[in-house]
Amino acid sequence: MGHLTRRALLAGVSAGIGLYAGRTLLAPTSATGPVFPAEAQAEDGAVLLNDSSELSPTPVAKHVVVTADPRGEAVENIRALMAEAQHAGRPFIASAARHSMGGQSLAKNGSVLTLDQQWLEADAASKTYRVAAGTRWSTVIARLDTIGFSPAVMQSNNDFGVASTYCVNAHGWPVRFGGCGSTVRSLKMLLADGTHVTCSRRENVELFQNAMGGYGLFGVITELELDMVPNSRLEPRFDSVSGAELGRRFAEMLNNDASIQLAYGRLDVSLDRFFEDGLLIAYRPAADQSDLPAATGSGFISRVSREIFRRQVGSDGMKHMRWWTETSLGPKIAGPSTRNSLMNEPVVTLDDLDPLRTDILHEYFVAPSRFAEFVALCREVIPASFQQLLNVTLRYVDADTDSVLAYATEPRIAAVMLFSQEKTVRGEADMARMTRELIERVLAIGGTYYLPYRPHASIDQLVRAYPRAASFAENKREFDKGLLFRNHLWDAYFARL
Ligand SMILES: Cc1cc2nc3c(=O)[nH]c(=O)nc-3n(C[C@H](O)[C@H](O)[C@H](O)COP(=O)(O)OP(=O)(O)OC[C@H]3O[C@@H](n4cnc5c(N)ncnc54)[C@H](O)[C@@H]3O)c2cc1C
Repeated sequence: MGHLTRRALLAGVSAGIGLYAGRTLLAPTSATGPVFPAEAQAEDGAVLLNDSSELSPTPVAKHVVVTADPRGEAVENIRALMAEAQHAGRPFIASAARHSMGGQSLAKNGSVLTLDQQWLEADAASKTYRVAAGTRWSTVIARLDTIGFSPAVMQSNNDFGVASTYCVNAHGWPVRFGGCGSTVRSLKMLLADGTHVTCSRRENVELFQNAMGGYGLFGVITELELDMVPNSRLEPRFDSVSGAELGRRFAEMLNNDASIQLAYGRLDVSLDRFFEDGLLIAYRPAADQSDLPAATGSGFISRVSREIFRRQVGSDGMKHMRWWTETSLGPKIAGPSTRNSLMNEPVVTLDDLDPLRTDILHEYFVAPSRFAEFVALCREVIPASFQQLLNVTLRYVDADTDSVLAYATEPRIAAVMLFSQEKTVRGEADMARMTRELIERVLAIGGTYYLPYRPHASIDQLVRAYPRAASFAENKREFDKGLLFRNHLWDAYFARL
């Protein structure tokens, strides 16, 4: 018996059905009050699944892991599982690594499908590859690396599934790109009535646009065809820049230099210099492109040790030390690395290993010209909360002209924030309050927030951030009349529109 940690949860996912059935999960207490009760008890006999927030324990009627090739029996198996759920009148949702944080990959008392596959076929001539929906980016990188290619767009970590990346329309360091969806040529999806359709910018266009960033609510994606780009040796350049100037400088840097392949920014999170200083890191092709080594892990984590990163909780001294490591030491020791190695970082490297706390991500998207206002609002809201902000990474995301739930209707700077949250009732209440305040202020400067994280926004905020939210819900009801595909995002938000 033990506490349900993220590691245990992930182990449970790969172990398959029923790992937590009938098991009592103990809730430790902390000096600051009871641990968040949602994690306290599994329902007797029920399978309890969670996501990477560790705050979404959800009883499910059935959990099935599919590892088979989508060109083989997998499609038939999934269709049968969907029919079974439909017959039993319960919801169905697909998932991969369940690193979303608010039940987007979970269906209460429903059937949950975990896809964990390996199949990939690349076509060097067309610079595309076909991949099973549940293939993880670590597999994609390993396979493309051997033929000299690299994913066009993926997140900053390699644990996630390819279809789920399309379903949240994730983005990362690669520039100049929009979300991953912009690099998906076509996909195959099982609809609620069991038909297996191809969707692209020419075929079943409406489904393609709704399913991109559509959180699994339109069907189960079985395979996708994506763009790939040549792998190459890249050299970093570090530029110090004030926090307020960072957005504008980021956009200018990319507009002035088409050779940049990967780029991101960071902000100093020490409370006494909160967001005052920033750093821009851009990777350009090195002169020497011969004998590229096989993909290994990326550089940031190797440069800034997990120990320093974690000891930032409650310590401005460690935050200063971490910022020094990043701005002074990092540029001195960073050398060339391949694109694939830079993108090949597992989430586990940063795991907090603390049963009383959990890492919660936020992400906001603002126009480069409004970034200074974003910095100002964060300075007013975040330090006044109880939350421990450990990291901010900035990315550049190009305009999204495809998806219905687009978070970047114009080019935007994405600010990804990693908070360490106490797993207590007061920690959760404080996080909910702070999140709503941040969203409100970001909306006031024309920005949006990201949907795969905690469900703290009000419905009204979601509708203002995503003006086509009501059309999305209407389209879903049209394509999935019996509402087979449901998750917490549907239940808490779109079902009410
Ligand atoms: C540490 C960390 C770092 C992150 N970094 C980034 C980042 O750099 N950029 C970024 O944009 N995001 C980032 N994210 C967010 C991340 O991209 C999403 O949480 C993503 O969903 C994770 O993939 P997953 O495989 O865990 O998806 P899951 O949580 O398993 O699923 C996500 C959604 O996709 C749906 N889905 C999954 N598979 C299918 C399928 N086959 N058919 C239909 N629907 C499906 C699910 O129903 C769910 O709604 C990060 C998250 C974490 C925890």
